[in-house]
Amino acid sequence: MIAPTIHSAHETHQLLEPDWAEIIDITHEINDVSTYWLKFNDANLQANYSFQPGQFNMIYVPGFGEAAISICSNPNDHSLIGHSIRFVGNVTNAIKNLKAGDVVGLRGPFGTAWPMKELEGKDIFIACGGIGLPPLRPALYHIMQNREKFGKVTLLYGARTSNDLMYTDEYDAWRAADIDVQITVDRGDSNWTGRVGVVPMWFYQFRIDSRKTSVLTCGPEIMIRFVIFEALARRIPTENIFVSLERNMKCGQGSCGHCQLGPYFVCKDGPVFRFDALQPFFNVEEF
Ligand SMILES: Cc1cc2nc3c(=O)[nH]c(=O)nc-3n(C[C@H](O)[C@H](O)[C@H](O)COP(=O)(O)OP(=O)(O)OC[C@H]3O[C@@H](n4cnc5c(N)ncnc54)[C@H](O)[C@@H]3O)c2cc1C
Repeated sequence: MIAPTIHSAHETHQLLEPDWAEIIDITHEINDVSTYWLKFNDANLQANYSFQPGQFNMIYVPGFGEAAISICSNPNDHSLIGHSIRFVGNVTNAIKNLKAGDVVGLRGPFGTAWPMKELEGKDIFIACGGIGLPPLRPALYHIMQNREKFGKVTLLYGARTSNDLMYTDEYDAWRAADIDVQITVDRGDSNWTGRVGVVPMWFYQFRIDSRKTSVLTCGPEIMIRFVIFEALARRIPTENIFVSLERNMKCGQGSCGHCQLGPYFVCKDGPVFRFDALQPFFNVEEF
């Protein structure tokens, strides 16, 4: 059992109080998802802000509340902080109504990160679906900037249709950095000549050296479960499988229990977990 971190009243206040950031630009990605490029009003804060691939911020809209949103921008670019946001509910629909020049509250970065140091020297297989790609994009940028430190890198990304694929204008740059980008859609149409089928189904088809491959996965929980199922069937050790969970959360700092999974708080102990830690509470044979 992992004991929750106890914060002093002063620390808790600091953790709960957002700093203000301006929306500098908004990029339309796909239906109901846009990327918001933010910059802290305080130039010092902006210059000193840093995060690791896989971490998230809490974005606050006065009068509506806060939502946990992964950071999807380049960890080495300190000019703007990017968040790709799907408009699903109270806070995210309030964000949809904001425009460049408006201000939001920002707390973070929070949570665990993809273990980029530990992955050095290994082959990496990234299997993700839908809005599971944004928290992995900083990892892709990191790999591109340190390409010689990693072995074979494969990205298998799936979406419902070709119109739901995110960041399509970046795939060529990722491929140019020797990342094997493989795309699949659940449903093809007359314009789609690529793979059709869900991510776990195609994952099964790839040649993987299980002795030196680590798997990173994020997306709908059902997809994650099947990816892990396939990875275990390929004899990839549980300690080489990393999962990012986007469970519903409220406080972002391990106080409220909204995102609890067994002994873990996803906001504080996650969102990135090594699967051996998660396995007893995330049964892949449950489906
Ligand atoms: C670590 C982490 C990272 C995240 N990163 C992103 C991101 O990069 N982009 C993004 O768009 N969203 C992300 N999310 C999800 C986002 O935080 C939720 O969708 C959030 O609830 C939206 O707030 P809202 O007030 O707009 O929706 P709400 O009004 O809270 O909820 C709308 C509906 O969505 C359901 N719901 C909310 N959150 C979840 C969830 N996590 N899983 C399943 N159902 C849920 C609710 O039950 C409700 O039906 C992330 C979540 C976590 C925990």
